[in-house]
Amino acid sequence: MGKLDYLRENVEMLKAEGTYRKLPVNHGPCANVINLNGRRVVNLSSNNYLGLANHPRLIDAAKRATEHYGVGAGSVRTIVGNQNLLEELEKILAEFKEEEAVTCFQSGLNCNIGTIQAVVSKDDLIVSDELNHASIIDGIRLSRADKAIYRHNDMEDLERILQEKRAAYRNVLIITDGVFSMDGDLAKLPEIVELAKKYDCLTYVDDAHGSGVLGRGGRGTVDHFGLNGQIDFIIGTLSKAIGVVGGYVASKKIVKEWLLHRARPLLFSTALPPAATAATIEAVKILMESEEYTEKLWENARYFKEGLKSHGFDIGKSETPITPVMIGEEAKTMEFSRELLEEGVFVSGIVYPTVPKGTGRCRVMLSASHTKEDLDFALRAFEKVGKNLGII
Ligand SMILES: *Cc1c(COP(=O)(O)O)cnc(C)c1O
Repeated sequence: MGKLDYLRENVEMLKAEGTYRKLPVNHGPCANVINLNGRRVVNLSSNNYLGLANHPRLIDAAKRATEHYGVGAGSVRTIVGNQNLLEELEKILAEFKEEEAVTCFQSGLNCNIGTIQAVVSKDDLIVSDELNHASIIDGIRLSRADKAIYRHNDMEDLERILQEKRAAYRNVLIITDGVFSMDGDLAKLPEIVELAKKYDCLTYVDDAHGSGVLGRGGRGTVDHFGLNGQIDFIIGTLSKAIGVVGGYVASKKIVKEWLLHRARPLLFSTALPPAATAATIEAVKILMESEEYTEKLWENARYFKEGLKSHGFDIGKSETPITPVMIGEEAKTMEFSRELLEEGVFVSGIVYPTVPKGTGRCRVMLSASHTKEDLDFALRAFEKVGKNLGII
């Protein structure tokens, strides 16, 4: 008997449940076609919406920054890690988002954890959509504020909570994802902003899957609804559509001033490496120059969704390039994903506990990098596997 036997028992339990997995290994860049475990497959599972993860201009910017600045920032931002590249990135991002200020973090997860914790405290209430991302849930826990969860996108439930609880707190912060990552549906931001005005609440939108995807030229879900300047905290990632790594808050200047003093990831974790910062600046420039990439993304998404629907697949309530192909039963969902891989198409199966029991799905993530040939190849594989397994 060893001290770590409790972990062995946990892992055995995963194996018994059928949820134990080995990580697939990608032997090259994240692109439309990848070398997964030594096999070429069409990649329908990344968040690389615009295909920027291996874009020549970003690679070149990263190389030049590495030559000039080296590979590491050398310190947290509040000591000497605040390289001028970071200041430049924040300036251009604020311009792009048309908000007063931007504060960058090392990842989207870091950003949520650091920001939520810094802007609310134990006298406050956070009201959160039940399907919000795990990093929001962690940020809420660390903040020590009280929390109340409203049913997904249910504005009556949200209002009921505000009516009941608003008066008992100093600040109330309403938090929602902009785009929900498992279903690809949008938050009802105009209604949320109305309720926030009526009940004097702060608003926080995590737009990880909306930045670079929705709105004018990829300016995000807030821009899509024309609510610029009306959300107190807009979170974006630099890891998804932007193709690199990092997260940011777009906000009023005063929020930035406070975060630079109190957001723990800025005080206690080393700043972004120069190569990543420079590549991100280049990505934002590309987005500001042209809508070519966002248009191609939506064209691919429309094409693939139409193809799936015409074969008779159920794609749920998706309004974005996130396309869940609803299968239902857990084992069948995983089987569907395995069979697709046999056919040369990688789509991850998503099952309980990530989504509710009986709502297993294969989640297709479209990208501007896909060619029509990739998409047609994948649609043929979906048709074949769908018929084999009696889904269509
Ligand atoms: C992916 C994601 C994050 C985390 O972003 P990273 O930059 O990968 O850490 C945060 N929030 C939401 C809603 C996400 O989908």
